[in-house]
Amino acid sequence: MRFLVIGGSGFLGSHIIEALRARRVDYKQPISIAVYDIVKPLPEETIDAVTYYVGDIVNEAKLTEVMKEFQPNLVFHTASPLHGLPPAVYYRVNVEGTRTVFSSCRAASVKNVIYTSSMGVIWTGAELDGVSEDQVSIPKHGYDAYHHTKAAAELISLDENGVDGMRVVVLRPCGIFGERDKQMFWRMAEVLEKGQQNVQIGSNTSLVDYAYVGNVAHAHVLAADKLLTEPDTVTGQVFFITNGTPMTH
Ligand code: NAD
Repeated sequence: MRFLVIGGSGFLGSHIIEALRARRVDYKQPISIAVYDIVKPLPEETIDAVTYYVGDIVNEAKLTEVMKEFQPNLVFHTASPLHGLPPAVYYRVNVEGTRTVFSSCRAASVKNVIYTSSMGVIWTGAELDGVSEDQVSIPKHGYDAYHHTKAAAELISLDENGVDGMRVVVLRPCGIFGERDKQMFWRMAEVLEKGQQNVQIGSNTSLVDYAYVGNVAHAHVLAADKLLTEPDTVTGQVFFITNGTPMTH
């Protein structure tokens, strides 16, 4: 069983690899894992027995070549730029890059894709409490370029479902915390270290969902299991991934 993790040098991608390896026995056949990412992980974060391909997600020739060489049974598409970059970067990587993933899959006859979206794709800035996947649709204009393009990539992915036998599952994680997080929680720790936590913006009653990265990775592995063994139960579906207990923020 062969898995390609696009964006696998990153935080969540590396945990998906660990979760896949921890469940090796369940596939009843050896598993092989490869990463396609614009960067290699740090030496101390490189995982043994994983093949690392370095390339840009929008480089269709390179990604197709990698898919043809590695022949994955399933692709996890977790690549996305960091927060705080110019809008053009998000359009390029999330929108153009997601289209490229599917054209490369088609060229290499890869039929199973799990797209890592974000819970934020449905957010307009207004309060959302206890909503399920079928209660709220994606707004025409997302909250910012990151969320707008994550939503566009989600719609591209769902449009591909069923085309030429393509099977797609979309996962929408909430904010993720855990080992190797480089975006979010070190900033909170820095605020605490500097004693800046007395500054409060807003009423401190807003609720936000967070989930542990190991659980979000596990959700990806469960989605992969279902897609590979009982595809009709998950194909074309979208799932929120949350720990179920929102926190004030
Ligand atoms: P991350 O930055 O650690 O990982 C993303 C990976 O994508 C990086 O390794 C990066 O090098 C790669 N990448 C970026 N641009 C690329 C390009 N042009 N070509 C190839 N690879 C490229 O981020 P993460 O937190 O692990 O996020 C993984 C996924 O989960 C993303 O799709 C993100 O939108 C989604 N997500 C993250 C969170 C969170 O709180 N971290 C919450 C919801 C959804």
